[in-house]
Amino acid sequence: MDNQWWNTTPSLSFPSLSLSRRMHTLLTAAQLSEGIDRLARDVRQAYGDCPLTVVGVLTGSVVVVSDLIRRLEGPVRLSMVWASSYRGTATRAGRLDLRLDLLPDLTGQHVLLVDDIFDSGRTLEAILADLRGRGAASVRSLVLLRKQGRAEVAIEPDFVGFDIPDLFVVGYGLDYDGAWRHLPHVAALDADDIATGGAAAVDVLG
Ligand code: 5GP
Ligand code: MG
Repeated sequence: MDNQWWNTTPSLSFPSLSLSRRMHTLLTAAQLSEGIDRLARDVRQAYGDCPLTVVGVLTGSVVVVSDLIRRLEGPVRLSMVWASSYRGTATRAGRLDLRLDLLPDLTGQHVLLVDDIFDSGRTLEAILADLRGRGAASVRSLVLLRKQGRAEVAIEPDFVGFDIPDLFVVGYGLDYDGAWRHLPHVAALDADDIATGGAAAVDVLG
């Protein structure tokens, strides 16, 4: 792992080098790839050859959605909605903002809502409630990650890639204050960096 680009960028131009060493890799790119393979198989098993409408939640789901749809054999449509419950450097959810106005007519379609992570579950619950009022033939949900012991809602996603501990994670689409979405793996941020703002500094510099 020491010869990967996120660890070898010269520290002078990328002062977050020390931070990347304090990030703990939870899921490697290879593990994520296997997880997406498994999810794609499970989804196709559940739907058969049915045309599927994948609805991704911007912005965090872009990586999982793009990897997943390329493994889903059979007809797939793609739409995106937008949701945000974080403000800047906060790592606990605040007010939930939703923008669902980009959705096409979903009447009669089999809809699979895809998000990066299921934390309190409030984002998925709110979007699912809206989708269920749009005349779809079926509505199910898939998340790459589910945080243990955090759910505040009665619903569960239908498909889950990985269960992870209650840590703040970045990479593979997930950000901290806008940074780190492009990491090919999933890493937990060091709690001290979050507390002292060290992880925010990398957003500016990295
Ligand atoms: P929920 O509504 O389930 O509490 O939160 C879901 C949303 O919060 C996710 O779509 C994601 O954007 C964000 N989120 C929750 N936990 C984490 C985390 O550990 N890291 C990051 N980067 N985002 C998270
Ligand atoms: Mg999100």
